[in-house]
Amino acid sequence: MPSAPPDAPARADRLAARLAERELDALLVTHTVNVRYLTGFTGSNAFAVLADGIRAFLTDFRYVEQAEEEVPDWERIRGGRNLLDDVAGLLGEGPLRLGFEAGTLSVDRHAKLRAALPDRVELVAASGIVEAEREVKEPEEIERIRAAAALADAALLGLLEEGLVGRTEREAAWALERGIRERGAEAISFEPIVAAAAHGALPHAQPRDVPIPRDTLLVVDWGARLDGYCSDCTRTLATGEGVDPAALEAYMLVEHAQAVGLEGAMAGVTNVDADARSRAVIEDAGKGELFGHGLGHGVGLEVHEGPTLSNKAEPRALVAGNVVTVEPGVYVPGAFGVRIEDLVVVREGGQDVLSSLPKHLTVVD
Ligand code: ZN
Ligand code: ZN
Repeated sequence: MPSAPPDAPARADRLAARLAERELDALLVTHTVNVRYLTGFTGSNAFAVLADGIRAFLTDFRYVEQAEEEVPDWERIRGGRNLLDDVAGLLGEGPLRLGFEAGTLSVDRHAKLRAALPDRVELVAASGIVEAEREVKEPEEIERIRAAAALADAALLGLLEEGLVGRTEREAAWALERGIRERGAEAISFEPIVAAAAHGALPHAQPRDVPIPRDTLLVVDWGARLDGYCSDCTRTLATGEGVDPAALEAYMLVEHAQAVGLEGAMAGVTNVDADARSRAVIEDAGKGELFGHGLGHGVGLEVHEGPTLSNKAEPRALVAGNVVTVEPGVYVPGAFGVRIEDLVVVREGGQDVLSSLPKHLTVVD
């Protein structure tokens, strides 16, 4: 059983400071991943209530023992069948504003919560408070992500040794998933994408029962989850020397755009600007409309979290400790797709790339 994160008390203190900024007296944390981040608890049914002087952790009888081990720093409370009924008893006296996680609490549960609380408690929609804290990783978290990325890279190399041409996309995806689990991951961080030829033009392609042909581009996008933390990486491979020249040209363009994108992933550059620098390479080649998604996203306890690197995002500067992907692509409908994705740690004046696999076009069998 993993122990509580070493910075659990510091995380709660940093979060408490954010409550004041939002004029909240207390925060009810119901999103499981956020509960884990704050308290260290890895089970599936628990809430945390945070306020000045209050660090209360609520779970049901199934998790009492696990919580004793994982949540040493919080006051542990055993709740009843419906944990929402027990929240009122954890709050202080008098009128107060209680923030709830509007992004993940269902309308149904919100109604139950409202019914269980006295009138003196005002419920305030407060999305993204814990998520904002999670965007800046502690060194220990970065090491966990680095380990997940290394494991995922090893699993891909294992798949390449087995060979790809002639196997179906679905078989290859399953072999990759198995390789990830056999190397000790607790899970895949998302369903792997293995997409050959024209199927690769779908950024979120699902593996098909179709054999992978020779002499085409093959997009593989995969990740491992280890110790709670996710990895995410994409490589586009060539299944022979006879790939169509237009596809090869697109590959080199994306390779260049990805290198430029990586350089922009550093502290002080905005999320919008990081996207724009990489996108400009593809636009200058007249292929801007073939790159239809953002440059990247944050990765941590969830495979998609903040910050988002995109021309459509709210502009704000990247900060040291962000862990983001840099994944430009060019997708030609009916023909082929290219995407190259690395996972990087944003630093002052640069970045630390966690993905180790080569990015020059690799020819596989
Ligand atoms: Zn990916
Ligand atoms: Zn990604």
